[in-house]
Amino acid sequence: MRVIRTAPEGIRLVVVKIETTEPGLYGVGCASFTTRADAVALAIEQYLKPLLIGRDPQDIEDIFQSGHLSSNWRSGPILNNALSGVDQALWDIKGKLAHMPLYQLFGGKTRKAATVYTHASGSDLQATEDRVRELMERGFTHIRAQVNVPGHATYGASSTEKEAKSAFGEFDYRHWYNMNTVQGPWNEAASVRIVPKLFEHLRSKIGGEVELLHDIHERVQPILAINLARELEHYRLFFLEDPFAPEDINWFSRMREATPIPIAMGELFVNPSEWEPLIRERLIDFIRIHVSSIGGLTPARKLAIFCEWFGVRTAWHGPGDVSPIGHAANLHLDLASTNFGIQEAFLFGPIAREVFPGTPEIRQGMMWSNELPGLGIDIDEALAARFPYPEYPLNGSFPPHRRVDGSVIRW
Ligand SMILES: [Mg+2]
Repeated sequence: MRVIRTAPEGIRLVVVKIETTEPGLYGVGCASFTTRADAVALAIEQYLKPLLIGRDPQDIEDIFQSGHLSSNWRSGPILNNALSGVDQALWDIKGKLAHMPLYQLFGGKTRKAATVYTHASGSDLQATEDRVRELMERGFTHIRAQVNVPGHATYGASSTEKEAKSAFGEFDYRHWYNMNTVQGPWNEAASVRIVPKLFEHLRSKIGGEVELLHDIHERVQPILAINLARELEHYRLFFLEDPFAPEDINWFSRMREATPIPIAMGELFVNPSEWEPLIRERLIDFIRIHVSSIGGLTPARKLAIFCEWFGVRTAWHGPGDVSPIGHAANLHLDLASTNFGIQEAFLFGPIAREVFPGTPEIRQGMMWSNELPGLGIDIDEALAARFPYPEYPLNGSFPPHRRVDGSVIRW
């Protein structure tokens, strides 16, 4: 059992590989928590490995529970990601033993492929419209739209896209660039003023057929998020994402009273006590957690099934800081869940696809299974070793992000 650290596209990824006593039988799993990658690696090597060596890799549920409870204090993102690397690798092994893709072990296919959304952003309204049109021409039917706030920081958009594109090439450079760059000061009033203008522009220029999404990313005060949601009602969003931070979940009932806009939530959730009341009370429409941050496929399957009974659909987090192995894990859940909603896609470039042979293909706005046993994906360890973690300041942590007056805000 070992941890592989690699950054083929500059983003710190953590992968677990578990070998068995049966020659050639191994599994891989995603444990990527990019801002605390070394802490996750240490938790795997020094705490989970001693617990697991010699165990039967088929005992996934028992191994998950044993690992989860072994720290006594539990349900935090570092230990959950460590558990996920192990859990996904064990599911990969089980699929290979069964000679079946994992979605078969989860109950079989409920759809031919998973409809995805990807990201359009621009330095102004026209630039975002151009990017939306470009993605529509490539077959995407669901697109998240963000626009730069002139003179200020913006979540998901930048005024320096040209620089980002020349530096990072053809893959989804806009998203990557913004998550890894110190931005200008944040001005939430300017941000909530421009977002309705963006959707007014897109609906008037492009029409009503394309499904549009938007991410608030917990950046504004709760009452401003509710007011923004009401203004956006007219533009028929597929969903509005992360209007509140996990600390503010008690605002969701106020949101429901104020507006029928569909809500997606949960990117930062790590603990069942965060999502259980929102689902039980039907206060959200899409659950959007980062599968490795809650512990992997074992808890995510249970969460998907729990959501089914309450009419909540899945929209697993799928940015570039989920490894291609994590995207493959998302895909198996998507294919087998009757309450699948949408899958966020990251357009990995050729280098990442070479490091991770079997990275799921995206065609016609959908993600497709390659029908191989297990997760259907592997890692080329020799090639991965050629892409060590880059020398970012703060060892990959996000730098502080501030308002105009200098106070720190959420990312
Ligand atoms: Mg988000």
